[in-house]
Amino acid sequence: MPGLPRINLHHPVLSVEAGDEFMEPFHLAMQGKLGKQFVVVYEGSIPDERKNDENGGYWVALGKHEVDGEEQPFPTADIMALMAPYAAAVIAIGTCATWGGIPAAAGNVTGSMGLMDFLGENYRSTFGLPVINIPGCAPQGDNFTETVAAVLMFLQGIGPLPEFDSLGRPAWLFTDTVHQTCTRGGFYEEGIFAKSFGDKQCLVEIGCWGPVVQCNINKRGALNHVGGCMNVGAPCIGCTMPGFPDNFSPFYTKPPGTIVSSTTSKTTGYFIRNLRRFSMMYANRSVIWNRNNHVPSGWGHVDEATTLQKVAHYFYNKIQFMHSVRPGAKPRTHKPSKEDMEEVKQQ
Ligand code: SF4
Ligand code: SF4
Repeated sequence: MPGLPRINLHHPVLSVEAGDEFMEPFHLAMQGKLGKQFVVVYEGSIPDERKNDENGGYWVALGKHEVDGEEQPFPTADIMALMAPYAAAVIAIGTCATWGGIPAAAGNVTGSMGLMDFLGENYRSTFGLPVINIPGCAPQGDNFTETVAAVLMFLQGIGPLPEFDSLGRPAWLFTDTVHQTCTRGGFYEEGIFAKSFGDKQCLVEIGCWGPVVQCNINKRGALNHVGGCMNVGAPCIGCTMPGFPDNFSPFYTKPPGTIVSSTTSKTTGYFIRNLRRFSMMYANRSVIWNRNNHVPSGWGHVDEATTLQKVAHYFYNKIQFMHSVRPGAKPRTHKPSKEDMEEVKQQ
């Protein structure tokens, strides 16, 4: 990355090293002997390995370590606990790592939890940072790379500490709701709702939780600014939120809040959209067509304005040009005020 020293990536899938060679930097990091600053990026929820104390076994492991003189799989929870105190920053990626996600849903046989729960609220990295959370199931790729880039620049002393909210989410990415940036927002406002999947209108009545979910998928898309839930017809099921999945289930059914909000927008929307259709009718007419009161389209019949519509448009126009000159009209003469006259005298 420009401005940053070379970065070494140690990743179970992408690294070319394997076996002990791959695990060596992890062991050094756990002992605080790596000799350089490192950042831990953790994906997946952290299972409670204490649940295995009685019956043996483990939930998730990476490499091996010695237990009572025997080589045993090294639980990732233990690796994380040992590395975290020496890390310059700890970043949780995805809803499992941030809040626990699906493995931590009701039932939770593995005792799974997010990194913040696992390390505790008093955890701080060597740079004084609590856990940084980039949620999403799956997380949006650019959200991750952008945050990592900002954090690395901060750690290197060439950028400010990015702004995080009280849950450790990048504030510039997770403050607005899905609804505030949705391409279907206009339908919601006019009270027009999809009845089934594949319809183009607002999806709230078939299970969209967008009005209460903080996620930027509508602005950023899923990949290279393309796609994203609403853009491909899927209602928001709250996958970036700590309450996911339980608080958003059953999926694809009306959220209870809809009873108030969509009923209100149906009522106000009906009135507003009819006023807009009226303005739209005039927006669809040229000056000449208005003068002739006829639209010479060969494509189909266009209704002429009724007397009532003409009267209403007359008053609409009055309001529209109340403080400016209507195109084609004579410019208004400006009558100087007393203050203007005083000013001229003084000059
Ligand atoms: S589809 Fe969802 S996010 Fe979009 S306008 Fe409707 S309720 Fe809001
Ligand atoms: S819109 Fe909802 S379901 Fe889609 S990514 Fe965002 S939070 Fe997840």
